[in-house]
Amino acid sequence: MKPRYAADYRTILWLSMAAANVVVMWMMPSIRGWLVPVACYFALAAGVIAHNHNHSPTFKNRTANDLLNHVATIFYGFAAFNWIPTHNLNHHKFQNAPGDATITWRTSKKHNALVAFTYPFVSMAYQAPLIDAYVKEAKKKRPQQYRSIMIQLFICWVLPIAVTLVDWRAMVACVWIPRFFSLYTIIYFNYGQHVHCDPYSKWNHSRTFTGKALNFLLFNNGLHTAHHLKAGAHWSTLPKLHAEIEHHIDPSLVVPSFWTWFFKCYVLALFSPKFGTQQVGRPAHEPPGAGEESNLPLGDPEPEAA
Ligand SMILES: [Zn+2]
Repeated sequence: MKPRYAADYRTILWLSMAAANVVVMWMMPSIRGWLVPVACYFALAAGVIAHNHNHSPTFKNRTANDLLNHVATIFYGFAAFNWIPTHNLNHHKFQNAPGDATITWRTSKKHNALVAFTYPFVSMAYQAPLIDAYVKEAKKKRPQQYRSIMIQLFICWVLPIAVTLVDWRAMVACVWIPRFFSLYTIIYFNYGQHVHCDPYSKWNHSRTFTGKALNFLLFNNGLHTAHHLKAGAHWSTLPKLHAEIEHHIDPSLVVPSFWTWFFKCYVLALFSPKFGTQQVGRPAHEPPGAGEESNLPLGDPEPEAA
């Protein structure tokens, strides 16, 4: 089965390596502990792959696309369909303005370690009702999709819980720790990519991380401004799109190194606030009034048909 874009041979390779790593961990308990960080990385990559795949399907064939969602679900730790109600149809539409279930400013308008590192738990709680409503609607109106959702939920929860009853030690190392890491990190990334940005601006609604290693390891997921502007664009096309728009973006929202930014935000900012993020443009919690300029809704919030 050929992917639509040649770059997605790497997607397939990464999911295969994720599977191979889990097999090695399962068969060789003596080195299992050392491979947990590798499993964490592949779980994170699987989450990013599921994100990309739900915006721009990897294959033309619907069955192959369903299969990729199921495989990504095993490693990601969250059923891949969840991206659609919480991200494609909600976050991309409101991009951190009121209405977005994943707003970064729900508990505080400040950005510090406490707010940022508790954000994934708060965000998850507010995403749950959207997921629930989406599944109920699929059950009523889209039986084929509902079947696919049920398969993903089985793969995501029933199967791993059953295997955990057989060998909980192996499952904690191979599946549960990596899954928690993946889900937590992906939701935290959303925080970093939007905190103190301006959702009403055409160009400054997101923070972009341009580091080459990060973008290689995470399938160009750092190029978030370009992604929001053209959500249906394939991940491999984002560097070109970013190069075309970079001059429009406020320079403080184009960050060369994620880790330097992270250190500044959570360590140096303790000593001087100038190292933390500063609000760019209009804060998300102050929507424009009637007649004021706003670029919301922006981009292409709908996923391409699978
Ligand atoms: Zn997205």
